[in-house]
Amino acid sequence: MSPPAAEQPTEAEWAAAVSAITRLPADGRVLLICHVNPDGDALGSMLGFGLGLRRLGVRQLQATFPGRPEVPEPFRDIPGLDLLVPATEADPDPDLVICFDVAAVSRLGDLADRLDRAGAAIVLDHHASNTRFGGIHLVDPDAAATSVVVEKLLVRLGVPLDRGIAECLYIALATDTGSFRFDMTTPAVHEMAARLLATGIRPGEISRRIFDTRPFGAVRLYGDVLGRTQLEPLAAGGLGLVWTYATLDDLARHGQRPYTLEPLIDSVRCTAEADVSCVLKQVAEGEWAVSMRSKGPTDVSRVAVALGGGGHRLAAGFTGYGTAAEVVDAIRAELVRGAAESGNGPADLQDQD
Ligand code: 5GP
Ligand code: MN
Repeated sequence: MSPPAAEQPTEAEWAAAVSAITRLPADGRVLLICHVNPDGDALGSMLGFGLGLRRLGVRQLQATFPGRPEVPEPFRDIPGLDLLVPATEADPDPDLVICFDVAAVSRLGDLADRLDRAGAAIVLDHHASNTRFGGIHLVDPDAAATSVVVEKLLVRLGVPLDRGIAECLYIALATDTGSFRFDMTTPAVHEMAARLLATGIRPGEISRRIFDTRPFGAVRLYGDVLGRTQLEPLAAGGLGLVWTYATLDDLARHGQRPYTLEPLIDSVRCTAEADVSCVLKQVAEGEWAVSMRSKGPTDVSRVAVALGGGGHRLAAGFTGYGTAAEVVDAIRAELVRGAAESGNGPADLQDQD
């Protein structure tokens, strides 16, 4: 069954966003926020748009994200980093707040109060699970990345792409399309990539920096974590579940920071025998950041939303509480529920050729 056609931002929403920006007073204060534990799309979309606003002449401009003010090592050369301030130093009541890649208020942490205090709030996002918080919604669930929405808004604002903006948006687009491998890699995505590359940015150098460089300690850490991966062929209504977990002790033993674990899900999801893959990353005693992926049949966004998180059909996440075994129990139970509802039980599988 194909999903219902996703709702695109309306002309009125685009116009409201453009007007909220162009009508800012000369000394108007703008606060850009992306989600906690920012990935390439969150950071790249936010900083790329920030550089665009700077070109428009916006001077009172801050970019931030909730939680520890730590930029993951792979992003330490991304353009626009000088816009970034720790959440503790973010403007308490800006004239305009703009959120990037944030599907739910919970992903704004302590910065959520800015939504109420700001004069206006624009939400740029591409999550189907977006809860429609904030005032002006530019949410396009068909967009491969939030940066697709960012580029469209920059066009409407008359901001041309320069190398700095292009590098940010390229990092965002490459991150969320799995380096142009996922199904959402449409002709329009490649056309956007072509516009970005035409500015002269270097895709080989950017990809090496963002995706293909990690410390030796991370390689050894991956060995430990992948070594304890479990395969459960009967889970997820017979479609199979593969999962592993990484503890704070694992990180400490190899001298690694939590963001080092982000690419691990890509190694786990390769498992041919499982549709659903999960990596549980310990955040604190009894608290886990869970990444989930599906190859197609299972809607992991539904599972993540049921467990308090969100995301996309094929890539989603949530915060799990308890022991790793308890969190996986909860996932298994939700997968059984989902399989039952979609009629995707083992009996159905036997009927397939
Ligand atoms: P990742 O596994 O790469 O961290 O996240 C995959 C997708 O799930 C992303 O689109 C991300 O926004 C979403 N996601 C991950 N963790 C959470 C969470 O705790 N809450 C919500 N609402 N979404 C999440
Ligand atoms: Mn995204």
